[in-house]
Amino acid sequence: KKPPLRKGSMADVPASVLDQIQKFEEMFTVPASKLQEVTEHFVGELNKGLSKKGGNIPMIPGWVLEYPTGSEKGDYLAIDLGGTNLRVVLVKLGGNRDFDTTQSKYKLPDHMRTGSADALFSFIADSLKTFVDEEFPQGVTQALPLGFTFSYPASQDRINEGFLQRWTKGFDIDGVEGKDVVPMLQAQLQKRNIPIDVVALINDTTGTLVASMYTDPETRMGCIFGTGVNGAYYDVCSGVEKLQGRLPADITPDTPMAINCEYGSFDNELITLPRTKYDILVDKQSPRPGQQSFEKMTSGYYLGELLRLALVDLSQQGVIFKDQDMTKLEKPYVMDTSYPARIEEDPFENLEDTYDIFKNELGVETTGSERKLIRRLCELIGIRASRMSVCGIAAVCKKRGYKTAHIAADGSVFNKYPGFKERAAGGLRDIFGWEAKKNIEDYPIIIVAAEDGSGAGAAIIAALTQKRLAAGKS
Ligand code: BGC
Ligand code: MG
Repeated sequence: KKPPLRKGSMADVPASVLDQIQKFEEMFTVPASKLQEVTEHFVGELNKGLSKKGGNIPMIPGWVLEYPTGSEKGDYLAIDLGGTNLRVVLVKLGGNRDFDTTQSKYKLPDHMRTGSADALFSFIADSLKTFVDEEFPQGVTQALPLGFTFSYPASQDRINEGFLQRWTKGFDIDGVEGKDVVPMLQAQLQKRNIPIDVVALINDTTGTLVASMYTDPETRMGCIFGTGVNGAYYDVCSGVEKLQGRLPADITPDTPMAINCEYGSFDNELITLPRTKYDILVDKQSPRPGQQSFEKMTSGYYLGELLRLALVDLSQQGVIFKDQDMTKLEKPYVMDTSYPARIEEDPFENLEDTYDIFKNELGVETTGSERKLIRRLCELIGIRASRMSVCGIAAVCKKRGYKTAHIAADGSVFNKYPGFKERAAGGLRDIFGWEAKKNIEDYPIIIVAAEDGSGAGAAIIAALTQKRLAAGKS
């Protein structure tokens, strides 16, 4: 069953282009049966990741060993090193399921993604210094506790460390993989004499989980649909086989343990993912081929690139953009996710915004039927991403036996990509076979907008950690 064409007539579109549209529909459409198959495989892979032997999905214990109660209190600093920005946040936890934040955003200079570790951690420390000088003009007497949201796979044996397994989302900085990033930050802070104590290092999904649970006890997962994709949930320590023999004595089998799944790497062995030739190309041309296979089909870092590769392919075949200057479009990653998002927002009839985007930003003059093809292609890429990306949610819910749940979600794709929420809900419905409802909030498992995970989540986790340590627990 194919998703219906949106409004607008295809009557004037020549047969060759219609033919191409049909090819794309076949290539990118993922039916319910495939979503179910992917989800089944996903459940097995989550379990493998928790086993001693391990699997493709890292399933990293995050050492958050309690649920937030909503009564955590105090002032905390938080930083969030994401794919695009560095955010510095001062969080005041109110203790009544409430909090306040003051924050600054610093754009990561483009070259930093692939620059040196020293430059990156200096940039973070400088930004923190600016922020602390502004927020504490009278100076700081006692070291400020800080929660560090580090949105990359990082192994931990305790909460205030994080050994980077590998960069994702196009980051490629030498000398960090395999190392603990906390001392790297702490060293730069010391150099600048900034009294900050890194209490906890957390993943953005874990922060999202905990911040949302602080305000909404029905929360069962924290998910990011952004530059990358990932999810976190609470397991119990006895459910994490690979922790056997590694647990401090005061931790009982039923102690909760937050797990950062890192399921962007789902199916790197390519058993079930319905990849197209463009997915294969994205992977081949990335700095890390063979990694993050699921993420490369679903996350914001890659959607515009998939679109670009398909368009360049058609132009090379002579199907579209005849006699146009392709110099700009031939540049990898020149189209970020805002491109398919804006094209999908364009009212179908004339696709005038799409015309302007191609003409002004990419130097390509498009015909009406080319724009209809582009628009349809964007829909197909967007629909596929949203439907596929909920397989991770469905798998965790199946594994944990959640029949109802609030799934807290954040990230640019969730917040900004048109239609994402409805399409994602449709994907979950197809996987679980729920009866159709008018209102997507009426399904048993719903995706809700998260609380500020990288600020409040990091702060709450820092507070939980301090409380544990004060109680003499490990
Ligand atoms: C990273 C995860 C992160 C996700 C969303 C992925 O590329 O590996 O750690 O949670 O992106 O930001
Ligand atoms: Mg982020």
